Amino acid sequence: MGKSDSKKTSKKTTKKSKFVFSKTRILIFMLICALLGGSMFFSKPIEDKIMSYSTHGAQLSSYQTALNNDFIVHFVDVGQGDCIMLELPDGKKGIIDAGDDNKETEEHLVEYAKQNVFDGTSDNVFDFLILTHSDSDHVGGMDAVFENFVINTIYRPKIFYNKTQNATTAQSELTNDETERANELGINKPTTKSTNIYFEFLTLAYSEKDENGLNAQIIFSEAGLEISDETAGYNIKFYSPNKDSYSDVNDFSPIIIASYKDYSIALTGDAEKEVEEEVLELYKLPNVDALKLGHHGSSSSTTQAFLEALDPEYIFITVGAGNKYGHPTEEVLKRLEDYNIGTNIFRTDQNGDIIFSVGKQIANSDSTNEQTVQADSESYGILIAISEGDGVLSYIKWWQIVSVILVISFFLCFLTKKEIEKKAKNEIKKAISK
Ligand SMILES: [Zn+2]
Repeated sequence: MGKSDSKKTSKKTTKKSKFVFSKTRILIFMLICALLGGSMFFSKPIEDKIMSYSTHGAQLSSYQTALNNDFIVHFVDVGQGDCIMLELPDGKKGIIDAGDDNKETEEHLVEYAKQNVFDGTSDNVFDFLILTHSDSDHVGGMDAVFENFVINTIYRPKIFYNKTQNATTAQSELTNDETERANELGINKPTTKSTNIYFEFLTLAYSEKDENGLNAQIIFSEAGLEISDETAGYNIKFYSPNKDSYSDVNDFSPIIIASYKDYSIALTGDAEKEVEEEVLELYKLPNVDALKLGHHGSSSSTTQAFLEALDPEYIFITVGAGNKYGHPTEEVLKRLEDYNIGTNIFRTDQNGDIIFSVGKQIANSDSTNEQTVQADSESYGILIAISEGDGVLSYIKWWQIVSVILVISFFLCFLTKKEIEKKAKNEIKKAISK
């Protein structure tokens, strides 16, 4: 193309369209293309960097950094089962239950804790561990917890390993210990439903060394216990068990209300309506902001009266997709709907890992998978983040951003300012003449 040709073309272009393809403009655009093209080789680190500024997907850790020193409850997706991790404002960490005896979910919970609770540091101390009860979907993954982390204090249920049911010779020593412990507590009728996996937990618990190399402290869960720090402003209170023995192991699960600032969440393990009624009779429960549904949304938990007493706005359901129990049941979901919390339900089978946290609000956070609500005068608020689910931007891909930048650059490079002004003027003229 000769000099005159290019002049002609550009003149022609100016007349017919709003684009001008001059040499300089083409050169600038090509430079941008080259830079963007080159950046594609670094997609992965760039995407990671972008993730660290958002709260989506697997990079939930960055989100916690933004809410440093606050109160965080993690509902780790372990399929059908419970695994809850806590980060407290004074830096203490806790774990409640560990999901089932399943390699995949155990790996996930260990990895999750390392990345999101200990933020990739070498720290690995849980200040406390609470085992709600002896069912395998709560105790099953405990071996992985003991293997990977150090536990200082262990809260265990008063469920005693039953010698007659499962004991083998190798286990008899602890079985006797368990009988002794039961006797010390004046419980001479140990709960019969205990399993080998629960025995394994007891073995690990009683041989666990804390961060100072001393025996981990073991405490029987019971109503009235508190894990709290007034200066840090948090309180974790046990409202049950109020009895030494229950006919159903689920009912040994402590009903716990954890609060920080003006916000609180109730955690109930698999406690069923008998315990809910017991607690309602004995205490005037405070209203809470959030509730982890009892027993994975089974119809044997979450009575109308319990819901009314706690009056939660947000519901968390720890449940496996397509589980054989039909959890959460239609009956309970209907109860929630009738109670007008039908839309504020977060489920691990649909939302993956879920974070409930109380902290200083992140300004201008408007992404689809988080909600910031109820800021008080100190601008503290609740923030809920999920890792998967409908309408959720799990990942932003670098190529998507590159495409957008390319289109914008194209317009910026070749669009003539004069033409825009001219067009605008014409528009205004037209508008006025009308
Ligand atoms: Zn369960």
